[in-house]
Amino acid sequence: MNLRSLSFRLVAWYAGVLTAVFVLLGCLTFLFLRHYLEANLLDTQTRRARQIAGTLVAHAHRDTETTLAGEVENLYSPELNDRFIRISRADGEVVYASGAPRNELFVPGRVAALGGNFLEGSTRKVQQLPGAPLLIAAVPATGADGTLYRVEVGTSAAPVEDTLEQVLVMLAVGLPIAVAAAVAGGFLLVHRALEPVERIAIKAEEITQHSLSERLPVVPSGDELERLAESLNRMIARLEDAIRSSKQFVADASHELRTPLAVMRAELESLAQNASLGSETREALGSVLEEVARLGEIVESLFALSRLDAGDAGGGWQRLDLAELASTTAEQMSLLATDKDIRVSCELTPGLAVQGDRARLKQVIVNLLDNAIKYTARGGHIALSVRREGAWAVLEVTDDGIGIPPEALPQVFKRFFRVDSSRSREPGGAGLGLAIVKSICSAHGAEVEVQSTAGKGSTFRVRQPLASEPSRS
Ligand code: ADP
Repeated sequence: MNLRSLSFRLVAWYAGVLTAVFVLLGCLTFLFLRHYLEANLLDTQTRRARQIAGTLVAHAHRDTETTLAGEVENLYSPELNDRFIRISRADGEVVYASGAPRNELFVPGRVAALGGNFLEGSTRKVQQLPGAPLLIAAVPATGADGTLYRVEVGTSAAPVEDTLEQVLVMLAVGLPIAVAAAVAGGFLLVHRALEPVERIAIKAEEITQHSLSERLPVVPSGDELERLAESLNRMIARLEDAIRSSKQFVADASHELRTPLAVMRAELESLAQNASLGSETREALGSVLEEVARLGEIVESLFALSRLDAGDAGGGWQRLDLAELASTTAEQMSLLATDKDIRVSCELTPGLAVQGDRARLKQVIVNLLDNAIKYTARGGHIALSVRREGAWAVLEVTDDGIGIPPEALPQVFKRFFRVDSSRSREPGGAGLGLAIVKSICSAHGAEVEVQSTAGKGSTFRVRQPLASEPSRS
């Protein structure tokens, strides 16, 4: 799991905030409930104390206090009802005190006397034993003879504590379940919301300068991602326009240059034939002719590349025997090799049919052989082979020439790339030959790769899918 991903960070934040809110709410609910239940219980005790004060104490005289105690005992049976009742006189004398309750949750005799003003009512919480405290309400009462009394009624807060314990258990179980459910829902929501981002990223990876007509997927959700995808699509459209016009410019420029260059070349050649020219002028003319020829080659290469870029399928797509094409091409170029005393050996498996444009596939072999001859020293050796590898026809040109340094290997198929102008100036070339090879291969669904060791030689390998067997109908 990617901890830095947007979905993880969103869900983590969401889960954190939600847990904090839930815990806070749980604590507040718990505290509020405890306060409410205790207040309620104390309220009941106060009402009962007032009842005793109003109904029993109000009719008592100082000399009938024993009767009062008996009445309280009879009417309220505090021990049986787990209640604490105490009636004391203002002089501190206890007139009546209930006994130990049945539930034994408090010890009445150990409840300290309440000081303070006898005319004021009050409530208090007495923690006697470990466990629930004793909640006591005290109210003032006046006997029939004007004697001032205090009636205290209390009960254990155990039922409140039991309820709170249940609420606590409910919160402890419910909160994690609620958080987990909310987080799972949040995860699904975030995941669904961000799903288009993944699809946009995958598609964006696929779009190259050759597939700029494709567009990113747009989910009509009306959200920011739809806007982003649309903006990116408009940007791709602008890039497509810009690249198309720059390719068109190169195509137009190279096309327009071909004719004047051909005319210049013809004029210069006819000028060079003129016998009355001095040797210096003839030499200068020869070198200008060479440069014009080189310029012509570059323009032709650029024109070929621009047509390949435009997806021009070439003259005719046909089924052809790769070994036969390789052998004729090698034969036609044998003169170049003989000139440099280079031996060309062929190892060709006949009958390997591929689909393609003959002229362009021939161009691939010409460029590879031409390079092999250019970059191999006099007396060297070049091996040309065509063989089958599964469903592929593999054409290989191996030489024992100067090789290519490892740092230059990834670049050799780039346009206008030359390994080192000083080492290849002598044989010429503008760095377009291998770029053309690569473009033709791509147009034919073929792959081209190179292996080379500087100073030892190079091998260029073209792997092209074999043509399917023609149907014999
Ligand atoms: P160029 O027209 O300069 O030969 P290419 O595109 O055909 O351009 O080749 C690019 C560069 O790759 C060349 O400058 C050359 O240095 C290197 N290269 C190509 N083929 C070979 C080879 N067979 N042996 C050594 N270097 C080569």
